[in-house]
Amino acid sequence: MSKKFDVVVIGGGPGGYVAAIRCAQLGFETACIDKWLNKDGKAVFGGTCLNVGCIPSKALLDSSHKYHEAKDNFDIHGIQVGDISMDVSAMLKRKDQIVKNLTMGVATLFKANGVKAFEGTGKLLAGKKVEFTNHAGTVEVLEAEHVIIATGSVPVNIPPAPLTDGIIVDSSGALEFPEVPKRLGVIGAGVIGLELGSVWGRLGAEVVVLEAQDKFLHLVDQAVAKEAQKLFTKQGMDIRLGARVTGSKIGSNDVTVTYQDAEGEKTEKFDKLIVAVGRRPYTEALLAGDAGVNLDERGFIHVDESCQTDAPGVWAIGDVVRGPMLAHKASEEGVMVAERIAGHKAQLNYDVIPSVIYTHPEIAWVGRTEEQLKADGEPYNVGMFPFAANGRAMAANDTDGFVKIIAHAETDRILGASVIGPSAGDLCQQVVVAMEFGSSAEDMGMMVFSHPTLSEVVHEAALSVNNAAIHKANRKPKKK
Ligand code: FAD
Ligand code: AMP
Repeated sequence: MSKKFDVVVIGGGPGGYVAAIRCAQLGFETACIDKWLNKDGKAVFGGTCLNVGCIPSKALLDSSHKYHEAKDNFDIHGIQVGDISMDVSAMLKRKDQIVKNLTMGVATLFKANGVKAFEGTGKLLAGKKVEFTNHAGTVEVLEAEHVIIATGSVPVNIPPAPLTDGIIVDSSGALEFPEVPKRLGVIGAGVIGLELGSVWGRLGAEVVVLEAQDKFLHLVDQAVAKEAQKLFTKQGMDIRLGARVTGSKIGSNDVTVTYQDAEGEKTEKFDKLIVAVGRRPYTEALLAGDAGVNLDERGFIHVDESCQTDAPGVWAIGDVVRGPMLAHKASEEGVMVAERIAGHKAQLNYDVIPSVIYTHPEIAWVGRTEEQLKADGEPYNVGMFPFAANGRAMAANDTDGFVKIIAHAETDRILGASVIGPSAGDLCQQVVVAMEFGSSAEDMGMMVFSHPTLSEVVHEAALSVNNAAIHKANRKPKKK
């Protein structure tokens, strides 16, 4: 006999587990299926984000930043630490413990909210039925009024650099190097490549990033991208643009990579190579032929703006559908779908989803960039303010970067913001809140920001849109 639920969620990452919790909060009998097994072979919820994504990468970014600060930047504060050493295995253990705490936290939240956890694989059948196969191979069918697919994404592999025995690794392998590689190659200067390259670079690896595109961070505001390239290069990252990897050869304990750039074919030898060329939606063995759910031409599950698939009562959210592959986007889609199932008029503002690169300095942006506004033919004004003119940044000896806010030239409504600098992710979030409420740059300029804080740089950038910054010379006098 099949089990009946109001909602069955397939996938327990930040999209799926959040959707399941909100469905349960709204009073629905909810099941969540996930097939993830961690390094110890234990079934855990939390998906890519908690197990091999956002959280473990940030744990290592924070550890490596602290090491780098202690090694190179304490002197200026009058602190001498003498010889400093590091223990990579302790760093990895700390990271693993954080992952464990958080994945256990999801299990606890499921219990507290009455979500029924199913450990194993889900397959969508016709008629909102889900075939569930547990890790021992036992099959049962779950019936649902609504099914939410949240099966996420997996790393893209490229034929010139197939994953090999801990030498050529994807992002998950790059979170597990047992020691610091002497020479590390990274294919792809995207968010993941830059973050993981930063971790091992700060710990002492010589890092070479090979990026096929001619432009660095081509989707990011180009003033920010230029500043980032300059700062990362100063930190010792060797960034080679227009460099397309075409082959690799494994040696006794290393790999020789062949790449093509404007000058022709070149080779480089590395101890380890990280392939970070993007992620693809994951739908393997997920859909029965008659399930009624379609994929788009890029392999994402086809959905409308409210995440409804082509099969009535079947929804899809997160990395497996169009839009940025970000944990917070997945979660908010999960909440929106749960609310919609409950008949509420929830919607997600896709124009105001922030992105963050957790390097140092951090990079964050929201809305449209200056390049996009130019292409759209939209009239705009720009306000910029540097961290170098901010008292708190000086006190922290963290003065690289700036905040850039762009507003409509006629209405003054904020259309986008880009930040490179300390705590850029948190600072950009302040503009996200303002944009969500339709704020003008002038409105933001009239808000009171605590002194001395880094957020004063956001305030001054907003003031600067209308030539009213206080702590720098404005381009033109402020209008009377
Ligand atoms: P996932 O987290 O991928 O979860 C999908 C789940 O579905 C998995 O647990 C999988 O086991 C399960 N599953 C798949 N198929 C089935 C099936 N048939 N049956 C049962 N279960 C199934 N994003 C950010 O916003 N901020 C960051 O800082 C950030 N850092 C990242 C760093 C790295 C190294 C990586 C790799 C990613 C990072 N991301 C970050 C991206 C983020 O992890 C993803 O956007 C997010 O996890 C997507 O959530 P999801 O729920 O859609 O899918
Ligand atoms: P993202 O999609 O943001 O993770 O970035 C992945 C990056 O990898 C993109 O900027 C791609 O241009 C880059 N890339 C993809 N294939 C190759 C390749 N063969 N050699 C070098 N860079 C690549």
